[in-house]
Amino acid sequence: MPETKIITLRLPFRMGSVNCYLVEANSGHVLIDTGSSNRRAELESELANAGCRPGNLKLIVLTHGDFDHTGNAACLRERFGVIIAMHRDDSGMAERGDMFWNRTSGSRLVGLMAPILFRFPQSNRFRPDLYLEDGDSLSEYGLDAQVLSLPGHSRGSIGILTAAGDLFCGDLLENTKKPAINSIMDDAVACQASLAILQALAVGTVYPGHGLPFSMASFPANGGGSAETGI
Ligand SMILES: [Zn+2]
Repeated sequence: MPETKIITLRLPFRMGSVNCYLVEANSGHVLIDTGSSNRRAELESELANAGCRPGNLKLIVLTHGDFDHTGNAACLRERFGVIIAMHRDDSGMAERGDMFWNRTSGSRLVGLMAPILFRFPQSNRFRPDLYLEDGDSLSEYGLDAQVLSLPGHSRGSIGILTAAGDLFCGDLLENTKKPAINSIMDDAVACQASLAILQALAVGTVYPGHGLPFSMASFPANGGGSAETGI
């Protein structure tokens, strides 16, 4: 497992917190998710403390297009000259600031996320530099890891699986109270298929978008029900 710094940032409106993962890559760093813009200064100081500077932050990978994971990507691209990678099927969320772009079931999400939506200003929107697909390797960016397509929470949700078997799962799974499927699922059938993919792979530790790392071996076969929070 490459050395990984977990940066946990509080979300607005008492919505809990979100994780960003700064992963040590060959001669640089890869940042997986960027948090929400309300804690930008905190993220920037954490990155500075870890030695990130223009030139050695090689890549930003976004596990999906929600504002709480993409809120600082545009700003960091400007500051570090880094490229932003994500799946094409979530790119409209980032380009338009519309978290319902390419999603099918908006109603529950609307209630939970509407207060935040107006806070994804034009300056936080961006067009990704690189589209990632299932099976893509990140070795070009110094990280021995591959992309897994894990739709469910959103159509373009991806996970990053390192060669050592550690998984950055975005918002497919969470561990805010216990390891579980994220309570917000756009497509429950796709979610189960994504979970089955993970259960067939040799996944060791799971690093979720929300909550603490957990062992995949301890994840309940039935998905663990759903927890109460998670965006
Ligand atoms: Zn989230």
